[in-house]
Amino acid sequence: MWKCQVCNFIIEAEEAPEKCPKCGAPKEKFSELTGEAKELVTKSRETNSLLMELADLMEEIEHISQEGIDINLDPGCLSLFEKAKEQSTLIKQSAKAEIETHIEKGKWG
Ligand SMILES: [Zn+2]
Repeated sequence: MWKCQVCNFIIEAEEAPEKCPKCGAPKEKFSELTGEAKELVTKSRETNSLLMELADLMEEIEHISQEGIDINLDPGCLSLFEKAKEQSTLIKQSAKAEIETHIEKGKWG
């Protein structure tokens, strides 16, 4: 795993690329990521993909909840669906914000 020191782009390969695919910096600008740094990148990528999965599921819950709210059978059901919608929106937004933080830091590609 290699990291461009200019733009933080990360590439998984045996050797550093001739040129950075993102910013065009030459091979010498790449440093190899090993050990803990490499593990951190891997963990961060896995976490980002889990966060995205979570956000998608929350969106599904929002839709289901909205249907329940629209049907409005009785106050108990309405309140449950409203609660579910509120919580799923919150979790979805938090997950997306977390992903954005990771991307902004540019640390982990
Ligand atoms: Zn670069």
